[in-house]
Amino acid sequence: MAARREYDAIIVGASFAGLAVARRLTGDVLLLDRHEVGTVQTSACGTPLWVPRALGVESSVLQVHDRLDLRTPSRTITYDLREIPFCTFDYRAFTQGLLAQSRVVFLRAAVTGIEDGAVTTASGRFTAPVVVDASGWRGVLVHERDRPPTERGGYSFGLETPTSLEDDKLTLILDRRVMRRGLGWIFPVGRGSLVGLGSYVGASKLGPPLRSFLGALGAPTASYHGTFFPSRMLRPTVGRIFAVGDAAGQCLPLTAEGIRPALYFGDRCGELLRTVLEGRLTLDAALAEYTRIVNRYRRAYAVLRGAQWLATYAPTRCFALVAAALGKRPLLPCWWPRYGAFGRFGGAAA
Ligand SMILES: Cc1cc2nc3c(=O)[nH]c(=O)nc-3n(C[C@H](O)[C@H](O)[C@H](O)COP(=O)(O)OP(=O)(O)OC[C@H]3O[C@@H](n4cnc5c(N)ncnc54)[C@H](O)[C@@H]3O)c2cc1C
Repeated sequence: MAARREYDAIIVGASFAGLAVARRLTGDVLLLDRHEVGTVQTSACGTPLWVPRALGVESSVLQVHDRLDLRTPSRTITYDLREIPFCTFDYRAFTQGLLAQSRVVFLRAAVTGIEDGAVTTASGRFTAPVVVDASGWRGVLVHERDRPPTERGGYSFGLETPTSLEDDKLTLILDRRVMRRGLGWIFPVGRGSLVGLGSYVGASKLGPPLRSFLGALGAPTASYHGTFFPSRMLRPTVGRIFAVGDAAGQCLPLTAEGIRPALYFGDRCGELLRTVLEGRLTLDAALAEYTRIVNRYRRAYAVLRGAQWLATYAPTRCFALVAAALGKRPLLPCWWPRYGAFGRFGGAAA
C-alpha cells in the first residue's frame, strides 16, 4: 500500500500504454492497476520483432514469423514478412520487463474515476498535477462514467483461446462461414497457438462461433480471454488528462494491432511529460504537443478504417483480389515497410 497521497504524476493502467509512459518518467510517479503487472493477458501478443528489441525485452519473444497467410474461401494469400518480421511474445515477461525499467511506485488498486482533480480508487484518493489514462478501452478517467463507451460504436470485440496447434506462420482467416463480420486468427506461440475470432461490429457473443472454428481445426478448447478494442481514434486529451493506447482509440483499425500504437504514443507522451516534470515545458504546452503528435496519424487511421469497412461489408472475393495485389510486387514494397515501421521508437528508459 502506497503511504503517500500526492505525486508528480499518476498513470492509470499498467499494460502496454501505461508502462510505455512510466519507463520514460522520473520523479514521484504512481502507477495504478487493478491487477498485478502481466497477470491478465487480453491479447494474442503479435507485433513486429523490432518492438521488443527496441524496448530491451527481446527475451519475452516466443516465436518469430516471416510469413503471414490470409485465408479466404476462394484463395490463400501469402505475405512475405521477411523485411519486417513479426513475433509473438510472452505478456508477463514483456510487461514485467518494462516495469523493471521504470522508477515508479506501483499500487494494485481499482480506479473508479476522477473527482475534484483527485484520482479515486478502492484504496483512497491520490492527486498529481499530471494524470494519464492508460486504462484500455474503458478509459476509466476520460470516458463518461454512466455510459459504456462501446455504446457509441467504433469498438471491435475479440475472443481467443490457447491451443496445442503448432505452426510456422501467422494466419488470418477472412471467411464469413467462420466469422460473419470480422476475422479469425491462428498465432503460433512456440509450443501451441492462440486461436481467436474478432468481430469488427463489436459482437461479444463469440463463444459459439469460436467453438465451431476450434472444432473444425481439431483443437480442444481450454480457457478463453477477450475484450473490446477500439477501431476509431478518440481524443488524446480530455481536459488536462492525457489518454494513451486503447483509452484514446489508438488501436489500428483492420489489423487490430493495438500494442505498437499503445507503446509508441505512450513513449511520446512519456517523453513530453518528463520535460514537464523537469520544469522545461508547461503542462498546457505538453497537452497541445501530444495532441499535435497524435493528430498527424489521423489520415492513416482513416484509411485503415475504410479498409476495415470493406473487410466487414464488401464481398470477400473482392477484398481478396485487393489483398492479393497488395501482397505482391510492385505494391508490397510500397506499403509493407512503411506499415511495419510505424511507431518506431528508440528512446531509452529514464
Ligand atoms: C483477443 C484480442 C487479441 C489481440 N491481439 C493483438 C495482437 O496480437 N497484437 C496487437 O498489437 N494487438 C492485439 N490486440 C489489441 C491489444 O490487445 C490492445 O490494443 C492493447 O492491449 C492496448 O493496450 P493498452 O495498454 O492501451 O490497454 P490494455 O492492454 O487493455 O491495458 C489496460 C490496463 O488498465 C487496467 N485497468 C483497466 N481498468 C482499470 C481500473 N478501473 N482501475 C485500474 N486499472 C484498470 C487493466 O488491468 C490493464 O492492465 C488484441 C485484442 C484482443 C481483445
